[in-house]
Amino acid sequence: LVLGFALVLPTLVHAQASTNSETPLSDRRVSYRIDATLDPELRTVTGSQRLTWRNDGPAPVDELQFHLYLNAFSPGSTFQVESGGVHRGNSDSRDDRWGGVEIERLAVAGELPSDLDTTLPYSGAPLDLTARMRFIQPDDGNTNDRTVMAVSLPEAVQPGETIALDMEFESKLPRVVARTGFAEDPQGRPFFMVAQWFPKIAVYELPGQRYVPADAATGQWNAHQFHANSEFYADFGTYDVSIRVPESFVVGASGVRTDEAVEDGLKTLRYRADDVHDFAWTAYEDYRVHEETWRHVQLRLLLRPEHDTETQVRRHMDSVIAALERFDAWVGEYPYTTLTIVDAPGGARGMEYPTLITGLTLYMGPSWMRVPEMVAIHEFGHQYFYGLLASNEFEEAWLDEGMNSYVESKVMDDTYGEGAMMEIPGLPLSSRAMQRLSYVKQNPARGSLATWSWEYDFSADYGKNSYAKPATVMNTLEGYLGWETMKEFLRTYYREWRFRHPSTQDLQEVAERVADEDLDWFFDQYVYGTAVLDYRIEQVTASRDSSIPDSLDARYINRVVVQRVYDGHMPTTVRMTFRDGTTHDIPWDGREAWKEFRVERDSPLAAATLDPEGVLWLDIDRLNNRRVVGAGDSPATAERRKFSVRFHQLALLISALF
Ligand SMILES: [Zn+2]
Repeated sequence: LVLGFALVLPTLVHAQASTNSETPLSDRRVSYRIDATLDPELRTVTGSQRLTWRNDGPAPVDELQFHLYLNAFSPGSTFQVESGGVHRGNSDSRDDRWGGVEIERLAVAGELPSDLDTTLPYSGAPLDLTARMRFIQPDDGNTNDRTVMAVSLPEAVQPGETIALDMEFESKLPRVVARTGFAEDPQGRPFFMVAQWFPKIAVYELPGQRYVPADAATGQWNAHQFHANSEFYADFGTYDVSIRVPESFVVGASGVRTDEAVEDGLKTLRYRADDVHDFAWTAYEDYRVHEETWRHVQLRLLLRPEHDTETQVRRHMDSVIAALERFDAWVGEYPYTTLTIVDAPGGARGMEYPTLITGLTLYMGPSWMRVPEMVAIHEFGHQYFYGLLASNEFEEAWLDEGMNSYVESKVMDDTYGEGAMMEIPGLPLSSRAMQRLSYVKQNPARGSLATWSWEYDFSADYGKNSYAKPATVMNTLEGYLGWETMKEFLRTYYREWRFRHPSTQDLQEVAERVADEDLDWFFDQYVYGTAVLDYRIEQVTASRDSSIPDSLDARYINRVVVQRVYDGHMPTTVRMTFRDGTTHDIPWDGREAWKEFRVERDSPLAAATLDPEGVLWLDIDRLNNRRVVGAGDSPATAERRKFSVRFHQLALLISALF
């Protein structure tokens, strides 16, 4: 027996960069150097961090603001009040469900990290600021909410200066809720999803950035409290994070692993993640690790043992690779060298962090219901819409969730075909059709995309207006502009706004420039407004022209009467199909409430179809877009289609049970 023997095993880790660029890809306004130790018994992460922040604004800044997201899981927080402790159907009443982060010390550091490339260090003196910390509640004044902290500085950070802060903190992980915390596996062993776990500086928006006027004299902090329905917002920078866990744990984290050492039964894993705006990690003793390479990207799948089958590996890997290929072709290159996919339990499932996503495994789920694929593709897509195009998720959730849901639906349908979502013979459901169905069935007139996430009158309206409706809006815009123009828009938006914080206005500006057209009429209706689109064919008739003698060839007066049922309008096409098999397309701007189209021909009209290509995804009732001459309402057809809609809704409900 050798007492006190320390075994140090530095392992050679392939020295790899976390991006495929030798130069910084973002403005790196922040940097974090964090040392974190997980205590699996206490469910705590004890950390110390040196955080740097650069004042890129035109004026001195004498107050800093921080997100302490984990405090959402302590009693009385705004998250608890708004959600009642229930997040997306997950809740817990056990005593150890609470979480939070305590900052034990906050001080201005004497010097900047040696590897930081900066020319202008903060001119103020090193000073302990712990006593100056105070919680603020900019959204609702709930003084029990401690998710935003402000600290005033004795000496302001001058324009261009970088300040370094030393912070000591302890994070108590909640039982898994709202994407973070701990859970136990069937053997009682702990699983940890460590997200939103460290004190994080807020975004100081500069003049001209998002909605701050370009001629403003100063920037302003944009820090919102953690709400039941809200996500996150942060600046880009570098993360150098050392994680200490018991040796038996398998760890997955954002970025690339640069070092690994074992000492006294604890292992320390060091990670580097550049040009990202968050860092998350997971630890569990029994992860089964599967690795593959796609071009410059190392894919690492961490499966729980009960899901460790070849089928599950392929369902995750193949769908993520399908997404990598299509995002690369349609939007732009994935610039990071790693992607970790975590098979997480319960409330930690289906979430995105930079270069780390959590999936959803349906072990008994049938292969024809592609929920795991959809979740993997969706969460991967967030590497773009959220990760690289870092919109403000509090204020403009549709820019990340909605734009992502749009491209996700395209990836799904392109990869798996018309039954992408549900491969049911005779009743296939595509991903785009599912998004549309989800929008249509939920009170389509209620709530607009351009709403702060906690300000919807009805909680369900947040989901609809952040996911299904914007996906359907973008599919409709694609139908109008054409897929080639739409791709050019996506690529341009990505090229110009990646590693930045685009707003809805910025997105519209790019769309208009690429389309070479003012799109206010579209955005005002469907992004800012609550317009509802439905056209119906009221009447189709074909009557013989009685002014032409029977001795001559017959002429027919063919009429189609269409109605714009609600306030929404889109240009569309009315297709007339004649008894002799010929067709005649009439473009219509769709603006009038009623419109009659009249065509004289030597063949009588057989049927009329509005939106014959099916590109008006926003049309809330597609059953009334076609009418056959003399066939009345064709109740049988309508009933059959209604049945298929109900069947798909039922199938979606069933899929939610897995
Ligand atoms: Zn999402």
